Amino acid sequence: MTILNPDQQAIRQAAKEFVAKHIIPRAAEFDKTGEFHPYLLEAAKESKIFAMAVPKEYGGLGYDSVTQALVLEEWGYGCAGMGTTLAASILSMDSVLVAGNDEQKRRYFAPMINAELGAFGLTEPGAGSDAGSGKSTAVRDGDEYVINGTKCWITNGAVSKVYVIYAMTEPTKGLRGYSAFIVERDRPGFSIGTIDHKLGIRSSNTCELLLKDVRVPASNLLGKEGEGFKIAMMTLDLARPAIAALSVGLAQRALDECVKHMQKRFPGKPQAGQTLQFKIADMQIQVEAARETLHHAMLMRDSGQPFSTESAISKTFCSDVAMAVTSQAVTLMGSHGYTSEIGKYMRDSKIMQIYEGTNQIQRLVISRAVLTQAMKAGE
Ligand SMILES: Cc1cc2nc3c(=O)[nH]c(=O)nc-3n(C[C@H](O)[C@H](O)[C@H](O)COP(=O)(O)OP(=O)(O)OC[C@H]3O[C@@H](n4cnc5c(N)ncnc54)[C@H](O)[C@@H]3O)c2cc1C
Repeated sequence: MTILNPDQQAIRQAAKEFVAKHIIPRAAEFDKTGEFHPYLLEAAKESKIFAMAVPKEYGGLGYDSVTQALVLEEWGYGCAGMGTTLAASILSMDSVLVAGNDEQKRRYFAPMINAELGAFGLTEPGAGSDAGSGKSTAVRDGDEYVINGTKCWITNGAVSKVYVIYAMTEPTKGLRGYSAFIVERDRPGFSIGTIDHKLGIRSSNTCELLLKDVRVPASNLLGKEGEGFKIAMMTLDLARPAIAALSVGLAQRALDECVKHMQKRFPGKPQAGQTLQFKIADMQIQVEAARETLHHAMLMRDSGQPFSTESAISKTFCSDVAMAVTSQAVTLMGSHGYTSEIGKYMRDSKIMQIYEGTNQIQRLVISRAVLTQAMKAGE
């Protein structure tokens, strides 16, 4: 088990208290209505938790990666929908972190410190796993770029003030033609399309973004023209463990609720079937293993080692564990599981295997790394 230092323990405790006070009591209600949860941003403003990924030199809290994972796990424990709001804002900040200049970082991070939201716009109707098929374009016109296109399934899309948008500056070059831009919500030509109705994480906001001749100053380009895909991949390396952390929280919550239920359902019968006990043991093993896998990736990141493969492993393993454990919890709780809030955890888990690159794509990434390493070792 990762040994936490006193600061990390205190931050985790504060996150637990925040979640117990502000998230758990209202999660079911927001899941039911599918409405976004602005009240939570007000509550989060005081704790400055949205600033945890902002480096201290830009006025943020500058938490190390393990600490950020601890906080995100607690948010996932409380409500993965609300946790997704926080994770997606960090995802957009990560693009600025990896490619922004000093001025862009100051400009982008300032609102986040006050719990305003950001969004990351890569996916398009015809370009999900195959990001190279993107059709959005950005054409240079003097000191500006003119952006056109449609982005879909964008988390925080309708509730953000600022976005990182990926568009082709040289469409004939495929992945090497992508560039990344900061786009402010109030630019003429920028609008919100359909808001999505979802199976899970229902209180998070997901929608289309429509860009019609949106002009941004050339100073909004992140990095250089043609570096967009590289920036997107570096961003996702940093951000995937956030999905792993939400997943661990989800799995832990399902396990805790399941154990509580079984104590009530089978009072005084600890042997209520060895099969049931073994299943609980297996769930505990999976949750612990997932948490350790995540912390291992985070320790690698914090020590400055390459952690791209570990990032993909943590996202894949932890989200598969969340899906398996939440589903098992429903099974063990029988009809009570199927008709109670436990079902929410199972619904919320499914997206963890899909967004920020599906687990199938992660397996391609992981196997490529393993095979390349094996080839190098054999040379
Ligand atoms: C709730 C929600 C929030 C989201 N938030 C964001 C966001 O904030 N920003 C953003 O940019 N995007 C976001 N997305 C989009 C998400 O990241 C993509 O939907 C995801 O990457 C998969 O793309 P796709 O849906 O087009 O699936 P497809 O690419 O159409 O894939 C369909 C299936 O085929 C499989 N597949 C595809 N290609 C291969 C291959 N080469 N080998 C093996 N299997 C393959 C996939 O694994 C999947 O199972 C969000 C999506 C949802 C639903």
